[in-house]
Amino acid sequence: MPTAPAPLREATELLLDRHEQIDRALAERLAGLPDEDLPQLIQLAHQVRLALMGPAVEGEAIISAKTGGCPEDCTFCSQSARYTTEVVREPMLPTAQLVDLARETKAMGGTEFCIVVAVRGPDERMMRNVIDAAQAIRESVDIEVAASLGLLKEGQAERLAAAGIHRYNHNLEAGPRFFPQICTTHSFEDRVQTCRMVVDAGMELCSGGIFGMGETWDDRLDLAFTLRDLGAREIPCNFLNPRPGTPLGDNDLMRPLDALRCVAVYRCVIPNSVLRYAGGREVVLRDLQAYGMLAGANGLIVGNYLTTLGRSAEADLAMLADLGMPVAEQPLTGTHGMRTIPLQPA
Ligand code: SF4
Repeated sequence: MPTAPAPLREATELLLDRHEQIDRALAERLAGLPDEDLPQLIQLAHQVRLALMGPAVEGEAIISAKTGGCPEDCTFCSQSARYTTEVVREPMLPTAQLVDLARETKAMGGTEFCIVVAVRGPDERMMRNVIDAAQAIRESVDIEVAASLGLLKEGQAERLAAAGIHRYNHNLEAGPRFFPQICTTHSFEDRVQTCRMVVDAGMELCSGGIFGMGETWDDRLDLAFTLRDLGAREIPCNFLNPRPGTPLGDNDLMRPLDALRCVAVYRCVIPNSVLRYAGGREVVLRDLQAYGMLAGANGLIVGNYLTTLGRSAEADLAMLADLGMPVAEQPLTGTHGMRTIPLQPA
C-alpha cells in the first residue's frame, strides 16, 4: 500500500484520532490533492462520517408549496420571475394537500418534510398558511416538519419555531466573494442574517450551496467554513443542473470527480452535520452517485426537486440497501441519533 499523502495523514490524525476540526490551510491542501489521491480522500471522508454520524442515512422530501414568480434574480434559479423558463407559476398548495404529501413522504421512508416556497421572504398571509400547514401535519403524521421561506424578518423565526418547525432551510448558495455574481437583489450578508435568526430562535439550521456555478475552490471553502461557523446542522450539496432560460443555462456540467471531491472535503471540514446529497446529482454524477454516499454524504433528497425531476425513491432506497446503509428512522441531528463526540476548534 502506498503511503498516504501528508494532508491526508494530518487530517486523519486530527479528525479520527484527536477529534479536532481541520483548519482552512489543511482544507485547501485536501482540496488540492490530485485526482489519483481522490479515492484516499473519499475513504477518509467516509470514515469520518461513520465515526461521527454512524451508518444511517436521513431521507427528506422537499415540496414546492408555491412555485415560480419570485422577484429575486438568482442566476441559477428557474423560479425567478425575471427569466423565461419552463417553470409554471403555481399558487400556495392548500393545507390538506400538504398533509397528504407529508403522509406519502413518511411512507417512502422520509423523516422530514420540508415546505418550500419561492419568495424573497414570507408576508403575513404566507406565514399564517405555513404555520397552519405545519400544525396540521404534526397533528396527523409522524414526521418532522421543516420550512424554506426565504429571508426572514424580526420575530418570524420565533413564530415558526413555536409552530413546531424544527429546521429551517436557507441556503447561502455560494461563498461571500462569489455571491454578488449570482444575485444582486439581496446580499450574502442578508442570507447570513436569516441563518443567524434561525439559530437564535432555536430551530436547526439547514444551509448549503450549489457547486459548479463558476466558483473557485477558495469560494467553496469560504462557504464551508461560514456554514461551520454558523452551526448548520444539515448541509444540502447541490450541483448545478443548468436550467434553460436562466443566465447559467449554458454552463457546462461540473466534472463528476470534482463533485465527489466537494462532498469529501465538506465532510472533512464539517464532520458532524448531515451532508445532504441534493439537486443535480443525477445529471452530474450519473453512474457515480453511489460514490457520493461513500464520500461522506449521509442524507438524501428523495423524490423530485423543486423544479427538476429526481430519480425514483425506490432507486435511491435500492442504492442504500446495496451500500448496506440503513435509512434513519429519525432525523440524525439535534437530539436524535447524533453521536456527540465533541470537536475542538483547530
Ligand atoms: S430567492 Fe430563491 S426562489 Fe427566488 S430566485 Fe432566488 S433562489 Fe430562486
